[in-house]
Amino acid sequence: MTASIQIGDVKSSPGHSVHGSFKVAERAASSIELPISIIQGKSEGPTLVIVAGEHGCEYSGIVAAVKLAHELNASEMMGTVIILPLANPVAFDTRSLFVNPIDQVNPYGAYPGDPGATVTFQIAHKILNEVALKGDAVVHLHGADYNEALVPFNYVPITGNGLVDSRSSQLASCFPVSYHLNALPAAKSNSVPPVGTTYAVTADGTLYWEVATRGIPATMLEAGKEGKADKETVSIHYDGLINVMKHLGILAGTPRYHRSVKTLKNPVLVANRRAGLFIPKTEYGDVVKRGQALGEIWNFRGEVIETIKSPIDGMVVCRINFAAADSYPTQTQPYLFYITEVE
Ligand SMILES: [Zn+2]
Repeated sequence: MTASIQIGDVKSSPGHSVHGSFKVAERAASSIELPISIIQGKSEGPTLVIVAGEHGCEYSGIVAAVKLAHELNASEMMGTVIILPLANPVAFDTRSLFVNPIDQVNPYGAYPGDPGATVTFQIAHKILNEVALKGDAVVHLHGADYNEALVPFNYVPITGNGLVDSRSSQLASCFPVSYHLNALPAAKSNSVPPVGTTYAVTADGTLYWEVATRGIPATMLEAGKEGKADKETVSIHYDGLINVMKHLGILAGTPRYHRSVKTLKNPVLVANRRAGLFIPKTEYGDVVKRGQALGEIWNFRGEVIETIKSPIDGMVVCRINFAAADSYPTQTQPYLFYITEVE
């Protein structure tokens, strides 16, 4: 007899899909509930956990996760898939960039969470402990907020546990992307936050890192841009998830691995110092040289008051698109260019 899985009030049963909501926090007069689907195969097998929508305007992963939850046929599966397609519903409702607008905390770095802290940490604690740690593998879906555009890639946590790390790398190879970024904690990373900020591209505080360091292989996909759920990036998420399920043996069929990838390393976030209009001179995907002008800040007379230069030889992986540039980092614009070395 295959055991059922219960998350909040939602309980799976072998051979069926169940769709419901999972209460993760209470507000004064309402509660925050996450949509959840549990699709349990008739026979025993591994459990895959999929979490999307941590950033409420990164729609490609959300749409792919919802489509998968709708289309999966439990009677054709071995094992279980748990899907949280929207981990930050208040940001989705309010079209808020990067943060949960209730406490202005970015959930991306809020793990392992804290039941005694503000709401984003409470939600992170619930997602980690009551959902993600039930998985034999975890896939975390992101994809550029609506002021960002990026080159699709997977983060691969490098924990130092060789078996877990190689399994995480295999999960990443299930996604049709050309780049993997080896994600390290701050203590082992050369990544430097932009001057004046503490915002770094390290693995600390992420869901994939918290599960991987507990022995569960994980990867995080970044695919999407500018508040769109375009067919191409939804397919990167969806096709990758189907491949992951074949790789784990949850679905029948041979997975198609994407192993001819380049490795991204030493990510650097580059920010401006002056306020004004941000005029980019480089696109995401551009290969750049150290010292090359990436973009300019103009004043409102059209004069260049700052030229933003690349600190390394590398590639522009991600770029901010808003033309408004503050002189100080904000939650929604802590950087303008995300550049990495390419191995
Ligand atoms: Zn994101």
